[in-house]
Amino acid sequence: MAYRWPAGTTFKRIVLEVEDRSCPVCDRYMHVCDHRYHALWTFEGPTQVVNRLVRCPDTSCQSRGRTFSPAAELSMSMPRWCIGWDVLCWLGHRRFARHWSVPQLRLELKDTHQIRLSDDAIENYIGQYQTMLAARQQDPERVAEAYKDSEALVLTIDGLQPEKGHETLYVVRELTRKRVWFAEPLLSSAEPEVRRVIVLARQWAERLAQPVRAWMSDKQDAFVKAIATEFPGIPHRYCQNHFVRDLAKPVLDMDSQAKVTMRSKVRGLRAIERRVLAERRHAAAPESPPPPAPPQGAAMSTAAPPASATPAQAATPEPYASSAGGLLHTDRTLEAASLAPAEEPEIEDEAGEVVLGYCAAVRGILNDSQGGPLHPPGVRMSEALQDVRDSLDRNLGAKKGGRPSRC
Ligand SMILES: [Zn+2]
Repeated sequence: MAYRWPAGTTFKRIVLEVEDRSCPVCDRYMHVCDHRYHALWTFEGPTQVVNRLVRCPDTSCQSRGRTFSPAAELSMSMPRWCIGWDVLCWLGHRRFARHWSVPQLRLELKDTHQIRLSDDAIENYIGQYQTMLAARQQDPERVAEAYKDSEALVLTIDGLQPEKGHETLYVVRELTRKRVWFAEPLLSSAEPEVRRVIVLARQWAERLAQPVRAWMSDKQDAFVKAIATEFPGIPHRYCQNHFVRDLAKPVLDMDSQAKVTMRSKVRGLRAIERRVLAERRHAAAPESPPPPAPPQGAAMSTAAPPASATPAQAATPEPYASSAGGLLHTDRTLEAASLAPAEEPEIEDEAGEVVLGYCAAVRGILNDSQGGPLHPPGVRMSEALQDVRDSLDRNLGAKKGGRPSRC
Protein backbone atom coordinates (compact mmCIF):
# COMPACT_ATOMS: atom_id res chain seq x y z
CA MET A 1 0.00 0.00 0.00
CA ALA A 2 1.46 3.31 -1.01
CA TYR A 3 1.50 5.76 1.82
CA ARG A 4 0.89 9.41 1.10
CA TRP A 5 3.22 11.48 3.24
CA PRO A 6 1.99 14.89 4.33
CA ALA A 7 3.54 17.71 2.32
CA GLY A 8 6.66 19.13 3.90
CA THR A 9 7.50 16.04 5.98
CA THR A 10 11.13 16.12 7.07
CA PHE A 11 12.75 12.72 7.19
CA LYS A 12 15.57 11.42 9.28
CA ARG A 13 17.89 9.81 6.76
CA ILE A 14 19.58 6.47 7.33
CA VAL A 15 21.98 5.20 4.70
CA LEU A 16 22.58 1.46 4.57
CA GLU A 17 25.51 -0.20 2.84
CA VAL A 18 25.80 -3.80 1.72
CA GLU A 19 27.86 -5.47 4.44
CA ASP A 20 29.90 -7.81 2.28
CA ARG A 21 31.07 -6.03 -0.82
CA SER A 22 32.87 -8.93 -2.50
CA CYS A 23 31.06 -10.68 -5.35
CA PRO A 24 29.84 -14.12 -4.27
CA VAL A 25 30.92 -15.55 -7.67
CA CYS A 26 34.22 -13.90 -8.62
CA ASP A 27 35.09 -12.20 -5.34
CA ARG A 28 35.60 -8.79 -6.95
CA TYR A 29 34.72 -5.62 -5.07
CA MET A 30 31.15 -4.70 -6.05
CA HIS A 31 30.12 -1.16 -6.98
CA VAL A 32 27.06 0.85 -6.03
CA CYS A 33 24.73 0.79 -9.00
CA ASP A 34 21.46 2.14 -7.62
CA HIS A 35 19.59 3.41 -4.56
CA ARG A 36 16.33 2.23 -3.13
CA TYR A 37 14.42 4.62 -0.88
CA HIS A 38 12.09 3.39 1.81
CA ALA A 39 10.13 5.93 3.84
CA LEU A 40 8.62 4.75 7.10
CA TRP A 41 7.29 5.81 10.46
CA THR A 42 9.37 4.93 13.48
CA PHE A 43 9.06 6.29 17.00
CA GLU A 44 11.94 8.58 16.11
CA GLY A 45 9.78 10.25 13.49
CA PRO A 46 9.54 9.97 9.72
CA THR A 47 12.56 8.05 8.54
CA GLN A 48 13.98 7.56 5.08
CA VAL A 49 16.11 4.49 4.64
CA VAL A 50 18.46 4.77 1.69
CA ASN A 51 19.63 1.36 0.52
CA ARG A 52 22.78 1.50 -1.55
CA LEU A 53 22.51 -1.39 -3.99
CA VAL A 54 25.61 -2.97 -5.46
CA ARG A 55 26.59 -5.31 -8.29
CA CYS A 56 29.67 -6.91 -9.71
CA PRO A 57 31.67 -4.64 -12.08
CA ASP A 58 32.73 -7.55 -14.27
CA THR A 59 30.32 -7.71 -17.21
CA SER A 60 31.26 -11.32 -17.90
CA CYS A 61 30.65 -12.48 -14.30
CA GLN A 62 27.81 -14.93 -13.77
CA SER A 63 26.40 -12.75 -11.01
CA ARG A 64 25.92 -9.96 -13.50
CA GLY A 65 22.32 -8.81 -13.60
CA ARG A 66 21.89 -9.45 -9.91
CA THR A 67 21.83 -6.55 -7.48
CA PHE A 68 22.58 -6.98 -3.81
CA SER A 69 20.86 -4.97 -1.12
CA PRO A 70 21.85 -4.31 2.49
CA ALA A 71 20.65 -7.07 4.82
CA ALA A 72 20.22 -4.46 7.58
CA GLU A 73 17.14 -3.13 5.80
CA LEU A 74 15.06 -5.99 7.18
CA SER A 75 16.12 -5.20 10.71
CA MET A 76 14.31 -1.86 10.42
CA SER A 77 11.18 -2.80 8.53
CA MET A 78 9.76 -5.17 5.95
CA PRO A 79 9.58 -4.29 2.23
CA ARG A 80 6.63 -2.02 1.39
CA TRP A 81 5.74 -1.37 5.01
CA CYS A 82 5.35 2.23 6.03
CA ILE A 83 6.18 1.54 9.68
CA GLY A 84 9.25 0.19 11.42
CA TRP A 85 9.37 -2.89 13.62
CA ASP A 86 9.14 -0.68 16.69
CA VAL A 87 5.72 0.62 15.65
CA LEU A 88 4.55 -2.85 14.59
CA CYS A 89 5.47 -4.34 17.98
CA TRP A 90 3.84 -1.40 19.76
CA LEU A 91 0.62 -2.00 17.78
CA GLY A 92 0.59 -5.74 18.44
CA HIS A 93 1.31 -5.38 22.12
CA ARG A 94 -1.32 -2.68 22.69
CA ARG A 95 -3.88 -4.62 20.69
CA PHE A 96 -3.42 -8.08 22.19
CA ALA A 97 -1.90 -7.58 25.66
CA ARG A 98 -3.88 -4.43 26.48
CA HIS A 99 -6.95 -5.01 24.26
CA TRP A 100 -6.93 -1.56 22.72
CA SER A 101 -9.35 -0.97 19.87
CA VAL A 102 -8.15 0.09 16.45
CA PRO A 103 -9.51 3.65 16.72
CA GLN A 104 -7.83 3.93 20.12
CA LEU A 105 -4.53 2.83 18.60
CA ARG A 106 -4.94 5.28 15.73
CA LEU A 107 -5.59 8.22 18.06
CA GLU A 108 -2.76 7.36 20.42
CA LEU A 109 -0.31 7.11 17.51
CA LYS A 110 -1.52 10.46 16.23
CA ASP A 111 -1.64 12.32 19.55
CA THR A 112 1.45 11.00 21.29
CA HIS A 113 3.73 10.01 18.45
CA GLN A 114 2.45 12.20 15.60
CA ILE A 115 2.18 9.09 13.44
CA ARG A 116 -0.77 9.17 11.06
CA LEU A 117 -2.16 5.80 10.01
CA SER A 118 -5.63 4.86 8.82
CA ASP A 119 -7.76 2.22 10.54
CA ASP A 120 -7.30 0.01 7.47
CA ALA A 121 -3.54 0.25 7.64
CA ILE A 122 -3.54 -0.53 11.36
CA GLU A 123 -5.81 -3.55 10.84
CA ASN A 124 -3.56 -4.78 8.08
CA TYR A 125 -0.43 -4.49 10.27
CA ILE A 126 -2.20 -6.20 13.16
CA GLY A 127 -3.05 -9.07 10.82
CA GLN A 128 0.61 -9.40 9.88
CA TYR A 129 1.60 -9.25 13.54
CA GLN A 130 -0.82 -12.09 14.30
CA THR A 131 0.53 -14.19 11.45
CA MET A 132 4.08 -13.78 12.71
CA LEU A 133 3.04 -14.49 16.26
CA ALA A 134 1.22 -17.68 15.24
CA ALA A 135 4.21 -18.83 13.21
CA ARG A 136 6.46 -18.27 16.18
CA GLN A 137 4.06 -19.99 18.61
CA GLN A 138 3.95 -23.04 16.35
CA ASP A 139 7.64 -23.09 15.56
CA PRO A 140 8.54 -26.77 16.20
CA GLU A 141 11.88 -25.91 17.78
CA ARG A 142 10.32 -23.52 20.24
CA VAL A 143 7.57 -25.99 21.09
CA ALA A 144 10.16 -28.73 21.65
CA GLU A 145 12.12 -26.38 23.89
CA ALA A 146 9.02 -25.64 25.98
CA TYR A 147 8.37 -29.36 26.45
CA LYS A 148 11.87 -30.64 26.98
CA ASP A 149 11.36 -31.24 30.74
CA SER A 150 7.81 -32.45 30.36
CA GLU A 151 6.86 -36.06 31.08
CA ALA A 152 3.37 -36.33 29.69
CA LEU A 153 0.78 -34.23 27.91
CA VAL A 154 -2.75 -33.36 28.89
CA LEU A 155 -4.75 -32.14 25.89
CA THR A 156 -8.02 -30.28 25.64
CA ILE A 157 -10.23 -29.34 22.75
CA ASP A 158 -13.06 -26.87 22.63
CA GLY A 159 -15.02 -25.00 19.98
CA LEU A 160 -15.26 -21.22 20.09
CA GLN A 161 -17.51 -19.12 17.96
CA PRO A 162 -15.91 -15.70 17.56
CA GLU A 163 -19.15 -14.24 16.19
CA LYS A 164 -22.62 -15.61 15.62
CA GLY A 165 -22.92 -17.19 12.21
CA HIS A 166 -19.17 -17.55 11.81
CA GLU A 167 -17.48 -20.90 11.52
CA THR A 168 -16.43 -22.37 14.83
CA LEU A 169 -12.78 -22.30 15.78
CA TYR A 170 -11.58 -25.55 17.34
CA VAL A 171 -8.76 -24.89 19.73
CA VAL A 172 -6.38 -27.54 21.00
CA ARG A 173 -4.54 -26.63 24.20
CA GLU A 174 -2.01 -28.49 26.25
CA LEU A 175 -2.55 -28.04 29.97
CA THR A 176 0.76 -28.86 31.65
CA ARG A 177 2.47 -25.99 29.80
CA LYS A 178 -0.76 -23.96 29.42
CA ARG A 179 -0.11 -23.56 25.76
CA VAL A 180 -2.45 -23.17 22.82
CA TRP A 181 -1.13 -25.58 20.23
CA PHE A 182 -3.26 -24.61 17.29
CA ALA A 183 -6.74 -23.62 16.22
CA GLU A 184 -8.65 -24.77 13.16
CA PRO A 185 -11.83 -23.27 11.78
CA LEU A 186 -14.35 -25.98 10.93
CA LEU A 187 -17.58 -25.55 9.04
CA SER A 188 -19.31 -28.34 10.89
CA SER A 189 -18.87 -30.23 14.12
CA ALA A 190 -19.39 -33.56 12.34
CA GLU A 191 -17.06 -36.32 13.39
CA PRO A 192 -14.91 -36.52 10.22
CA GLU A 193 -14.21 -32.78 10.45
CA VAL A 194 -13.37 -32.91 14.14
CA ARG A 195 -11.25 -35.97 13.58
CA ARG A 196 -8.97 -34.00 11.29
CA VAL A 197 -8.15 -31.73 14.23
CA ILE A 198 -7.56 -34.66 16.57
CA VAL A 199 -5.21 -36.23 14.02
CA LEU A 200 -3.27 -32.98 13.93
CA ALA A 201 -2.99 -33.08 17.72
CA ARG A 202 -1.68 -36.63 17.53
CA GLN A 203 0.98 -35.54 15.05
CA TRP A 204 2.05 -32.76 17.38
CA ALA A 205 2.33 -35.18 20.31
CA GLU A 206 4.29 -37.62 18.17
CA ARG A 207 6.69 -34.90 17.11
CA LEU A 208 7.33 -34.12 20.75
CA ALA A 209 7.71 -37.87 21.40
CA GLN A 210 5.72 -37.61 24.61
CA PRO A 211 2.85 -39.73 25.88
CA VAL A 212 -0.60 -38.20 26.18
CA ARG A 213 -1.83 -38.81 29.72
CA ALA A 214 -5.38 -37.59 29.21
CA TRP A 215 -7.80 -35.62 27.09
CA MET A 216 -10.35 -33.17 28.43
CA SER A 217 -13.37 -31.66 26.72
CA ASP A 218 -17.06 -30.95 27.08
CA LYS A 219 -17.48 -34.50 25.74
CA GLN A 220 -19.60 -33.74 22.72
CA ASP A 221 -20.10 -36.86 20.65
CA ALA A 222 -17.71 -35.96 17.85
CA PHE A 223 -14.88 -35.39 20.34
CA VAL A 224 -15.54 -38.62 22.19
CA LYS A 225 -15.57 -40.68 18.98
CA ALA A 226 -12.59 -39.02 17.30
CA ILE A 227 -10.41 -39.14 20.42
CA ALA A 228 -11.32 -42.79 21.06
CA THR A 229 -10.22 -43.59 17.51
CA GLU A 230 -7.02 -41.58 17.38
CA PHE A 231 -5.94 -42.04 21.01
CA PRO A 232 -7.13 -45.54 21.92
CA GLY A 233 -7.04 -46.26 25.64
CA ILE A 234 -6.30 -42.66 26.66
CA PRO A 235 -8.69 -41.40 29.38
CA HIS A 236 -11.07 -38.68 28.26
CA ARG A 237 -12.31 -36.54 31.13
CA TYR A 238 -15.12 -34.07 31.45
CA CYS A 239 -13.87 -30.48 31.57
CA GLN A 240 -14.39 -29.04 35.08
CA ASN A 241 -15.43 -25.67 33.78
CA HIS A 242 -18.18 -27.13 31.61
CA PHE A 243 -19.17 -29.47 34.42
CA VAL A 244 -19.62 -26.65 36.96
CA ARG A 245 -21.36 -24.51 34.39
CA ASP A 246 -23.86 -27.27 33.66
CA LEU A 247 -24.46 -27.79 37.38
CA ALA A 248 -25.10 -24.08 37.84
CA LYS A 249 -27.54 -23.91 34.97
CA PRO A 250 -30.78 -24.51 36.95
CA VAL A 251 -29.66 -21.87 39.47
CA LEU A 252 -28.99 -19.37 36.71
CA ASP A 253 -32.38 -20.09 35.15
CA MET A 254 -34.08 -19.29 38.45
CA ASP A 255 -31.91 -16.21 38.83
CA SER A 256 -32.94 -15.02 35.40
CA GLN A 257 -36.63 -15.40 36.32
CA ALA A 258 -36.04 -13.41 39.50
CA LYS A 259 -34.55 -10.67 37.36
CA VAL A 260 -37.66 -10.53 35.20
CA THR A 261 -39.84 -10.20 38.30
CA MET A 262 -37.68 -7.40 39.72
CA ARG A 263 -37.71 -5.55 36.41
CA SER A 264 -41.50 -5.73 36.26
CA LYS A 265 -41.74 -4.20 39.75
CA VAL A 266 -39.36 -1.33 39.22
CA ARG A 267 -41.10 0.70 36.55
CA GLY A 268 -42.05 4.21 35.60
CA LEU A 269 -38.53 5.64 35.39
CA ARG A 270 -39.25 7.30 32.09
CA ALA A 271 -42.42 8.95 33.41
CA ILE A 272 -40.52 10.46 36.33
CA GLU A 273 -37.72 11.67 34.09
CA ARG A 274 -40.15 13.18 31.62
CA ARG A 275 -41.80 15.08 34.41
CA VAL A 276 -38.52 16.52 35.67
CA LEU A 277 -37.49 17.54 32.17
CA ALA A 278 -40.88 19.09 31.46
CA GLU A 279 -40.65 21.16 34.61
CA ARG A 280 -37.19 22.20 33.69
CA ARG A 281 -38.31 23.40 30.26
CA HIS A 282 -41.22 25.16 31.90
CA ALA A 283 -38.91 26.97 34.31
CA ALA A 284 -36.45 27.88 31.59
CA ALA A 285 -39.05 29.39 29.25
CA PRO A 286 -38.68 33.16 29.85
CA GLU A 287 -42.27 34.17 28.96
CA SER A 288 -43.90 31.50 31.10
CA PRO A 289 -45.07 32.31 34.64
CA PRO A 290 -42.97 31.10 37.63
CA PRO A 291 -43.34 27.37 38.08
CA PRO A 292 -45.96 26.43 40.66
CA ALA A 293 -44.54 24.77 43.75
CA PRO A 294 -46.81 21.68 44.04
CA PRO A 295 -45.73 19.83 40.89
CA GLN A 296 -42.12 20.20 41.94
CA GLY A 297 -42.87 18.86 45.39
CA ALA A 298 -44.80 16.01 43.85
CA ALA A 299 -41.93 15.04 41.62
CA MET A 300 -39.62 15.01 44.58
CA SER A 301 -41.87 12.80 46.63
CA THR A 302 -42.18 10.18 43.91
CA ALA A 303 -38.50 9.59 43.53
CA ALA A 304 -35.75 11.16 45.58
CA PRO A 305 -36.82 13.50 48.34
CA PRO A 306 -34.27 16.18 49.10
CA ALA A 307 -32.17 15.50 52.13
CA SER A 308 -30.07 17.37 54.60
CA ALA A 309 -26.62 17.54 53.17
CA THR A 310 -24.12 15.78 55.38
CA PRO A 311 -25.74 12.52 56.52
CA ALA A 312 -27.08 11.77 53.07
CA GLN A 313 -23.76 12.43 51.47
CA ALA A 314 -21.90 10.34 54.00
CA ALA A 315 -24.36 7.48 53.74
CA THR A 316 -25.01 7.35 50.01
CA PRO A 317 -23.21 4.34 48.53
CA GLU A 318 -20.33 5.09 46.25
CA PRO A 319 -21.76 4.01 42.88
CA TYR A 320 -24.33 6.74 43.12
CA ALA A 321 -21.77 9.41 43.81
CA SER A 322 -23.31 11.65 41.18
CA SER A 323 -26.63 11.61 42.99
CA ALA A 324 -24.82 12.25 46.24
CA GLY A 325 -23.21 15.28 44.66
CA GLY A 326 -26.67 16.52 43.79
CA LEU A 327 -27.96 15.85 47.28
CA LEU A 328 -25.26 17.99 48.76
CA HIS A 329 -26.81 21.16 47.47
CA THR A 330 -30.46 20.23 47.45
CA ASP A 331 -31.40 21.45 50.90
CA ARG A 332 -29.68 24.76 50.58
CA THR A 333 -31.06 25.39 47.13
CA LEU A 334 -34.56 24.36 48.08
CA GLU A 335 -34.45 26.85 50.90
CA ALA A 336 -33.47 29.48 48.41
CA ALA A 337 -36.27 28.26 46.18
CA SER A 338 -38.86 28.89 48.85
CA LEU A 339 -37.59 32.46 49.19
CA ALA A 340 -37.35 33.27 45.53
CA PRO A 341 -38.94 30.58 43.39
CA ALA A 342 -39.26 32.64 40.22
CA GLU A 343 -35.81 34.10 39.76
CA GLU A 344 -33.75 30.96 39.94
CA PRO A 345 -34.64 28.35 37.31
CA GLU A 346 -31.39 26.42 37.94
CA ILE A 347 -32.68 25.62 41.44
CA GLU A 348 -35.23 23.24 39.95
CA ASP A 349 -32.37 21.90 37.91
CA GLU A 350 -30.44 20.79 40.94
CA ALA A 351 -33.39 19.15 42.63
CA GLY A 352 -34.30 17.56 39.32
CA GLU A 353 -30.69 16.50 38.91
CA VAL A 354 -31.01 14.36 42.04
CA VAL A 355 -34.10 12.67 40.66
CA LEU A 356 -32.44 12.10 37.30
CA GLY A 357 -29.36 10.77 39.05
CA TYR A 358 -31.41 8.18 40.90
CA CYS A 359 -33.21 7.25 37.68
CA ALA A 360 -29.91 6.78 35.88
CA ALA A 361 -28.56 4.63 38.70
CA VAL A 362 -31.68 2.44 38.73
CA ARG A 363 -31.65 2.09 34.95
CA GLY A 364 -28.02 1.04 35.12
CA ILE A 365 -28.90 -1.60 37.69
CA LEU A 366 -31.79 -2.94 35.59
CA ASN A 367 -29.63 -3.21 32.48
CA ASP A 368 -26.62 -4.77 34.16
CA SER A 369 -26.11 -8.39 33.16
CA GLN A 370 -22.71 -9.03 34.71
CA GLY A 371 -22.13 -11.94 37.05
CA GLY A 372 -21.50 -15.66 36.87
CA PRO A 373 -22.57 -18.80 38.75
CA LEU A 374 -20.94 -17.62 41.98
CA HIS A 375 -22.55 -14.17 41.98
CA PRO A 376 -25.54 -14.37 39.63
CA PRO A 377 -26.87 -11.24 37.90
CA GLY A 378 -30.22 -11.40 39.72
CA VAL A 379 -28.59 -11.48 43.14
CA ARG A 380 -26.41 -8.53 42.15
CA MET A 381 -29.49 -6.68 40.93
CA SER A 382 -31.38 -7.30 44.13
CA GLU A 383 -28.43 -6.08 46.22
CA ALA A 384 -28.04 -2.95 44.15
CA LEU A 385 -31.75 -2.12 44.29
CA GLN A 386 -31.64 -2.56 48.06
CA ASP A 387 -28.76 -0.06 48.18
CA VAL A 388 -30.91 2.47 46.33
CA ARG A 389 -33.84 1.85 48.67
CA ASP A 390 -31.56 2.31 51.70
CA SER A 391 -30.24 5.52 50.22
CA LEU A 392 -33.79 6.84 49.69
CA ASP A 393 -34.76 5.79 53.23
CA ARG A 394 -31.78 7.57 54.70
CA ASN A 395 -32.76 10.71 52.87
CA LEU A 396 -36.34 10.45 54.08
CA GLY A 397 -35.09 9.80 57.64
CA ALA A 398 -32.77 12.77 57.52
CA LYS A 399 -35.70 14.92 56.49
CA LYS A 400 -37.68 13.99 59.62
CA GLY A 401 -37.90 16.77 62.20
CA GLY A 402 -36.51 19.28 59.75
CA ARG A 403 -38.27 22.11 58.04
CA PRO A 404 -41.88 21.10 57.25
CA SER A 405 -42.16 19.98 53.68
CA ARG A 406 -44.33 21.97 51.39
CA CYS A 407 -46.23 18.96 50.10
ZN1 LIG B 1 31.50 -11.21 -10.00
